Amino acid sequence: MSADCVFCKIVAGEIPANRVFEDQLCIGFPDINPQAPTHLIIIPKEHIVSQARALAEHKSLLGHLLAAAADLARLQKLDKGYRVVVNTGDDGGQTVHHLHLHLLGGRTMHWPPG
Ligand code: AMP
Ligand code: ZN
Repeated sequence: MSADCVFCKIVAGEIPANRVFEDQLCIGFPDINPQAPTHLIIIPKEHIVSQARALAEHKSLLGHLLAAAADLARLQKLDKGYRVVVNTGDDGGQTVHHLHLHLLGGRTMHWPPG
């Protein structure tokens, strides 16, 4: 747990979030500023600053997060497709420095991203 991390506070229950998904390693909840009809955030319970800071020991956790995103997409009935995004570092547009996946769906996505 990192004391000034908003996502650690959600894991700890200090900031409310509607946990649409939870298991022993991660939780999923709606983004507070949704960019699509479905916009969920999936985070590991462990504080990892970013994908760039993930270590070899986190390999299975990283796979677990992707699998959780696929489960959530099925639960949310995103049958036509969806997008999983991991903003990383300043150039990646990361604003919350606790590794997270965005699961976006419910509309057609564009490419290239902004
Ligand atoms: P990123 O720009 O990839 O770091 O994404 C961080 C995301 O977290 C943004 O889309 C924010 O809207 C979202 N966010 C920040 N605080 C909260 C919160 N308390 N509950 C839900 N989502 C949040
Ligand atoms: Zn954290």
